[in-house]
Amino acid sequence: MTKAGVEAVVMTRPGAALEQRSFAAPQVQPGGAIIETVLSEVCGTDVHLHHGRLGGVPYPIIPGHVSCGRVVETGGALRDVDGQPITAGQLVTFYDVYKICGQCWHCLVAKAGTRCPERRVYGITTSANDGLLGGWAETIDLRPGVRIVPLPAGLDPLDFMGGGCGLPTGFHAVERAQVALGDTVVVQGSGPVGLNAAIFAQLTGALRVLVVGAPAARLEAARRLGVEDTLNVLEVADPAARARWVRERTSGRGADVVIEASGNPAAVREGLEMVRDAGRYVIVGQYTDAGEIALNPHLHLNRKHVTLLGCWGYEFTHLHRSLAMMARHAARFRWRELVTREYSLAEAGTALEDMERLRVVKAVIRVRA
Ligand SMILES: [Zn+2]
Ligand SMILES: [Zn+2]
Repeated sequence: MTKAGVEAVVMTRPGAALEQRSFAAPQVQPGGAIIETVLSEVCGTDVHLHHGRLGGVPYPIIPGHVSCGRVVETGGALRDVDGQPITAGQLVTFYDVYKICGQCWHCLVAKAGTRCPERRVYGITTSANDGLLGGWAETIDLRPGVRIVPLPAGLDPLDFMGGGCGLPTGFHAVERAQVALGDTVVVQGSGPVGLNAAIFAQLTGALRVLVVGAPAARLEAARRLGVEDTLNVLEVADPAARARWVRERTSGRGADVVIEASGNPAAVREGLEMVRDAGRYVIVGQYTDAGEIALNPHLHLNRKHVTLLGCWGYEFTHLHRSLAMMARHAARFRWRELVTREYSLAEAGTALEDMERLRVVKAVIRVRA
């Protein structure tokens, strides 16, 4: 008797309606694992994928890069990074990036694993023709080398997915910004990355965090998370007025740190006018090529003596540490409340549309309880 098929949602090409397809049940590979999906996220990246705005995507793909589920079987003995065995039935997530080679110039010399050319990401740069390598599916095939991370005790899958990919990404941006005790931090953008950056900035010891974004529901979420004040960019359309709003709250100087998590190129010039002289500016929101802007190198950079940093993806360390921080602080920040709605696999298209129209803060696909 053959095993029953596995249902998965496939994005066949940019712009096309999502399709639900049946796949053969995967065979576990030595050093790999099979997990049955509990939740998978729907994020801004999936919207970009649907618009074909990311290069190097091997359509058709099964979207869903950050997911969690239960281990069905492992291909031999597997251990987590603490040396503990991975066992069947265990609730886990996994580092969605794999195949970082550890052998190339980027890995060995630059120590910039997120720029390794071999790097593949579940749900983004893995093709559905190669199997169940995305989270919008009943089962996920974890190939050898994929790092499995058990969910810490007491943490519900919904807590974790309320953070989703924004959790390690926001964590990475705050680490990159070197937020110091007593800093004032401005976050541009109130999506999951911005909200998580606002959380980790507070945990790092920022005196206060200000968020500039939209829509109102996301700004309310930011304030619930302890953000001191928010500015709605739909209500204040003039960039100069927005920069002034920041200066009015920083004795006319600007913020010590600005983190851009908006996805809008114009935010970068604006952010450089919000940061103080000799401050730090981290750009993490320009995940796709959304175009160019004009800067004045004298005013915005040189005379300002600003430190300008890009931040691409996240490494295993960011997932591991941000998850541990979440387990410690889930009662204070209540990530799960960021999930506005759960969708079934069949509703993936609606989830994608709701995400694109910013009707939800965080959307997740629930495959099973
Ligand atoms: Zn490499
Ligand atoms: Zn994501």
